[in-house]
Amino acid sequence: MECSVEAIEKDLNNMRKCYSSGITKETSWRESQLKGLRNFIIEREEEISKALKQDLGKHQGEAFRDEVGTLMKSINIAIKSLRKWMAGQEAKLPQIALLSSAEIVPEPLGLVLIISSWNFPFGLSLEPLIGAVAAGNAVVLKPSELSPSCSYLLSSVLPTYLDNNGIKVIQGGPMVGEQLLQQRWDKIFFTGSARVGRMVMSAAVEHLTPVTLELGGKCPALVDSLSASLDKKVAVKRILVAKYGACAGQACIAIDYILVEKSFSSELVALMKIWIKEMFGDNPKTSNTIARIVNEKHFSRLRSLLTDPKVKESVVYGGSMDIDNLFIEPAILLNPPLDSAIMTEEIFGPVLPIITVEKIEDSIEFINSRPKPLAIYAFTKNKTLQRRMISETSSGSVVFNDAILQYVADTLPFGGVGESGFGKYHGKFSFDNFSNHKAVARRSFYTDFWFRFPPWTLNKLQL
Ligand code: NAD
Repeated sequence: MECSVEAIEKDLNNMRKCYSSGITKETSWRESQLKGLRNFIIEREEEISKALKQDLGKHQGEAFRDEVGTLMKSINIAIKSLRKWMAGQEAKLPQIALLSSAEIVPEPLGLVLIISSWNFPFGLSLEPLIGAVAAGNAVVLKPSELSPSCSYLLSSVLPTYLDNNGIKVIQGGPMVGEQLLQQRWDKIFFTGSARVGRMVMSAAVEHLTPVTLELGGKCPALVDSLSASLDKKVAVKRILVAKYGACAGQACIAIDYILVEKSFSSELVALMKIWIKEMFGDNPKTSNTIARIVNEKHFSRLRSLLTDPKVKESVVYGGSMDIDNLFIEPAILLNPPLDSAIMTEEIFGPVLPIITVEKIEDSIEFINSRPKPLAIYAFTKNKTLQRRMISETSSGSVVFNDAILQYVADTLPFGGVGESGFGKYHGKFSFDNFSNHKAVARRSFYTDFWFRFPPWTLNKLQL
């Protein structure tokens, strides 16, 4: 797809015609596009892995776990469930509507735009695409310019598996994004920063376009002073893999910082040091199991967070940097100042501050005094604390004793709240996200209640 304004408008006109023809609503079309997506993943798995290695230094294992494998699962679920999702759902009407029936019928929204991010370039582009196509929409996808090899695969190879009259992929950066936002859409699904999310919402105002914003923020993980050593080990391993082992912390649901009781903090740091070495070796730079920082701009951003004189002395482990390889060694910080950028901005990298609290329950107030996060993690066996975390905090998700797990569950709605965004997807939630749930009611011409109609008399009102 070309990207001058005229070319975009011409293409979108054609796509609207395609949508109006009704083809994208047909079950067979939806199924064939989903199967096309599946073939793309199966046949191009090697190229996908290579592109992820090239753009982000992701290990093949990580590429399979977070993108290829997860997408295969999502596509298979969509193919298997499609007819069930598309079927109308029976509903009840009040008794006053005698001899009636009702149902909720999902209909596609029309022509939708998906703008995605670079950190999971396939997952964040194709996961919403699965929902949009399953729901019967015509779709334009704009992946991020910051993962160019992946965007190239998505814009040049993926279309050979799909019906290009109803699905188009356009490559480009902010300028192309802005041009696309000037168009009329029936839905915009955006994954990225709150800054650009605000632009998306302003643009959507013009046509009252519904919007989903998948944003980020600072996801906390509280770690209770677990008593059993096995529990401690399990918790630490899960924390480390979720932080350093998923795009090197460049993930919207990565643990941004840890909250722990003062009395447990040194033991926790010691355990983390041991397990970082176990997982990533004595010299993580040579292990190839930690992804690279996406580009020099983000590298410099992380470097300035870490080298802030106020923060520097809180580094208790790692943090060495190699700009030529865009590599940052896993870093642990203990109690950096709460007003430093590292504790006020989303980190999005392999740097993990630990903040100590007097009592683990104080974490609730700490979390509540900051913007609502996309996810909250809590490593604890304390059921009361678990209940309090659910009822007294607000976030897109809460996960106990693990992290990032919620992303791969098609049975859970994925998305944020407040500053971390709004609108949910994954599994059936994706289908619903791209559907209008139309209320349909039917009545028979027989029987009616006489008191339903004017003229109003005292008799009728007293009923
Ligand atoms: P970004 O907002 O800079 O870019 C996101 C997308 O918007 C890209 O495709 C980009 O080309 C496009 N874009 C940039 N400027 C634009 C403009 N002016 N008009 C229209 N489009 C524009 O964000 P990013 O750097 O790609 O991602 C990092 C942020 O995304 C982090 O905050 C992270 O937490 C968040 N994120 C959220 C999720 C989620 O699922 N909730 C997933 C990944 C990343």
